[in-house]
Amino acid sequence: MAPPPAPDVLISEVGPRDGLQSVKATMSTAHKRAWISALHAAGLREIEVASFVPAKLLPQMADAAEVVRHALTLPGLTVMALVPNLRGAEAALAAGVHKLTIPVSASAAHSLANVRKTREEMIAEVRSIVALRNERAPQVHIEAGISTAFGCTIQGPVPEDEVVWMAEQVVAAGVDESGLSDTTGMANPAQVRRLFKRLFAAIGSKTGAAHMHNTRGLGLANCLAAWDVGVRTFDSSQGGLGGCPYAPGASGNVVTEDLVFMFEAMGLRTGVDIGKLIEARAALKVGLPGEPVYGMTPEAGLPVGFSQGAAHV
Ligand code: ZN
Repeated sequence: MAPPPAPDVLISEVGPRDGLQSVKATMSTAHKRAWISALHAAGLREIEVASFVPAKLLPQMADAAEVVRHALTLPGLTVMALVPNLRGAEAALAAGVHKLTIPVSASAAHSLANVRKTREEMIAEVRSIVALRNERAPQVHIEAGISTAFGCTIQGPVPEDEVVWMAEQVVAAGVDESGLSDTTGMANPAQVRRLFKRLFAAIGSKTGAAHMHNTRGLGLANCLAAWDVGVRTFDSSQGGLGGCPYAPGASGNVVTEDLVFMFEAMGLRTGVDIGKLIEARAALKVGLPGEPVYGMTPEAGLPVGFSQGAAHV
């Protein structure tokens, strides 16, 4: 049998990290393993499975190394972990992750609140993480996500020049790609189009993922705007789980189920089986009882006559 065609879009599932670290309850390690396996079984091929931070700060992520160990057994999966600093990067590389993602704030105020470093200090940190990777695990891919790229709940508007400057700095520091995150759910499609165009002009093929939140209902519109100007990797979380604990009022990543539905309905391949993806919600719900799990497509069901893949041939 011929291998399935390469997807047109890479959906990077961030629920097990971004989602789980922003809810109060802690999902057990066994439930995390089961959920990640269910997401993988649905066809997701990049999952941010954990963040390597002190357990004192984020008890939800205390089992990061164990979760990574499980994720590494799933064939074809790119296992990604968030690392805010060099110490986290050391632990993540020791655990054997395939990809590191480093959050770097475009907003000076958010940088201090989130990682307790100025933007310049954070760029220096990125440089030392790249040096560590080069020495210990040169095959590991590093992404820097520019957070608060579209606005900040602490400082308000973030100048676009500063967002592009940050991306240029982290690329100069040696990261493989840099994407833009709407950490606080303030983005609109015109802004997304403009800023990603500027990013492509500044860093070209090193332009990474669009990480959109659905705080004001514009998550999918913003993803589509990013697609229109050439973005091909999108972060989202199952059930819209997640937000940012340091961005008061911001909650909810783009819902993976709705994002996959949008692209597949447009005739674009995501590689994800929507039916199995919706089934995977059971593993999330059982691991986090009482937590709201969002998604319009799972609630409404697939349209009559909708057949995934039909539009591809
Ligand atoms: Zn997020």
